Amino acid sequence: MTTELLHSTPHDITRAAGLLREGMLVAFPTETVYGLGANALDEEAVRRVYEVKGRPKDNPMIVHVHTVAQARELMQVVPALFAELTNEFWPGPLTLIVRHNAAVPDVVTAGLDTVALRMPDHSITRQLLHETAVPVAAPSANISGRPSPTDARTVYAELQGRIAAVLDGGDCPVGIESTVLDLTTREPVILRPGTVTREDLEDVIQSRVHFIESYEGAPRSPGTKYRHYAPRVPVYIVPHDPDPAAMDAALRAAVAAQSRAGWRVGLLAPECWHDAGATHFSSLHDGRAVDYARLLYAGLRTLDDCGVDVIICPGIEAVGVGYAVMNRLLKAGEII
Ligand code: AMP
Ligand code: MG
Repeated sequence: MTTELLHSTPHDITRAAGLLREGMLVAFPTETVYGLGANALDEEAVRRVYEVKGRPKDNPMIVHVHTVAQARELMQVVPALFAELTNEFWPGPLTLIVRHNAAVPDVVTAGLDTVALRMPDHSITRQLLHETAVPVAAPSANISGRPSPTDARTVYAELQGRIAAVLDGGDCPVGIESTVLDLTTREPVILRPGTVTREDLEDVIQSRVHFIESYEGAPRSPGTKYRHYAPRVPVYIVPHDPDPAAMDAALRAAVAAQSRAGWRVGLLAPECWHDAGATHFSSLHDGRAVDYARLLYAGLRTLDDCGVDVIICPGIEAVGVGYAVMNRLLKAGEII
């Protein structure tokens, strides 16, 4: 199969929408990461997404919608907080877990009685979903286990020949996957942290919001049990130290130790560490949590592709967006 490379022109977006409607797979940009989309109501198309990604069959997909009405058409009951949350955070990087009705095929939800719904905040995606006129099931557009792609070139390199098209919408402005919030429990539970933070949510719904990484027994967010987001080489995280001088010393010592051991070191860090002695450096700009999120996956992939033996990056304070960044870092590597 020849994979078409489409651009953000009205003609190409219409082409991408047509392919999706015909049951083909199309990778498309969102504000978080690139998605690999299929018509969510077409079981055969959704099944091929699992095949192409090598995605475990028990890891359900997020269904992307164009309107709140389209989301409601897939729901069995509308949770009390749904309207408040969608008013405030949709379109945006917040995925809501709700009970679904018979319209949603089992293959999308891995047989669960719940479905993950999101309305992306990206002009190209909005136009695509509008023209497609069906809900679109889409996990991240990468081979399972690798970092999510945040640009079209990366998607094309990884999936060309296996999907119908890649729609190029430039770099993803958020850079990490959406916050996943379960609305089927008495109080909402964050199954996957993202840039919509617990504080953001609690400000709007005046209720407690809980965090969960994994459940005893059958996990509610099955995806979270798999190794994720990892480059081919080991990733070592230098623990966050609130004292800047101590953090600086620890990071430079970690680079020096790996270099002395004979390894080519890739350093993914804020600009101030470009002179820390790594073989290759990938910048996180000022290192604010939002910069870290935006540049994390692209940085990991770039260093991986440079042929380094090890990647080092600094931990950051696990609050707000930093909590989500640390969640992804710990899935890509380990603390040293
Ligand atoms: P991805 O699209 O690859 O970023 O992964 C989607 C995430 O949403 C995974 O962590 C899934 O486990 C989670 N997810 C999707 N559907 C559900 C659901 N019905 N219940 C809980 N988690 C879900
Ligand atoms: Mg993924």
